[in-house]
Amino acid sequence: MNKGFLLVISGPSGVGKGTVLHDLMNTQENLVYSVSATTRKKRDGEIEGVSYFYKSHEEFEKMISEDKFLEYAYVHNNYYGTPKDFVEKKISEGKIVVLEIDVQGAVNVKNNTDNAVFIFLAPPSLSELKNRIVGRGTETENDINLRMNNARKELQYIKYYDYLVINDHINSAINSVNEIINAEKHKVFREEDFNIKEILDE
Ligand code: 5GP
Repeated sequence: MNKGFLLVISGPSGVGKGTVLHDLMNTQENLVYSVSATTRKKRDGEIEGVSYFYKSHEEFEKMISEDKFLEYAYVHNNYYGTPKDFVEKKISEGKIVVLEIDVQGAVNVKNNTDNAVFIFLAPPSLSELKNRIVGRGTETENDINLRMNNARKELQYIKYYDYLVINDHINSAINSVNEIINAEKHKVFREEDFNIKEILDE
């Protein structure tokens, strides 16, 4: 079995992480998506246990005190966190576990594990990002402004990531992320199935 690893994908709200990941989950073998817990309200079309596990503030804080999170952060006035048990189980099964998390969460993961690959998905410009968020039609004007302010701050974190992918054209962004995953899968230290002794003894 090859070694599993964490694939952390961040980028401003509206940049297209969902679209890229949806495609990857259908095409890349061995990938599993880590469903986060959040205190944010469910949006139309989202599904409990698929999009997020929706929690009250009290429930979320209880989970924090019980050490149930690999990482968590307070983003856009809500808690978001990665449940630890699922991630640990899947990594031990040799899976690539995808974490779609914010920049604070990514920094926490970076400080706590050496088995993660970090990709930042950036918009071609901030005006294009705003068009995409407005076009989604799910946020109030206040929310849109909050998300745009956060986008400015999030872009400052690119330096902590291993890879930068600009989502100018969705298909080329998807291709780039696929290439990164394929390259990371073939890192020598992850190729546990490869037995040099067997080949030399042939
Ligand atoms: P949204 O409300 O648009 O679904 O997500 C808002 C932000 O929270 C996004 O940047 C998303 O990546 C981030 N996020 C989602 N789940 C988690 C998580 O488990 N941990 C952290 N740190 N951020 C998360």
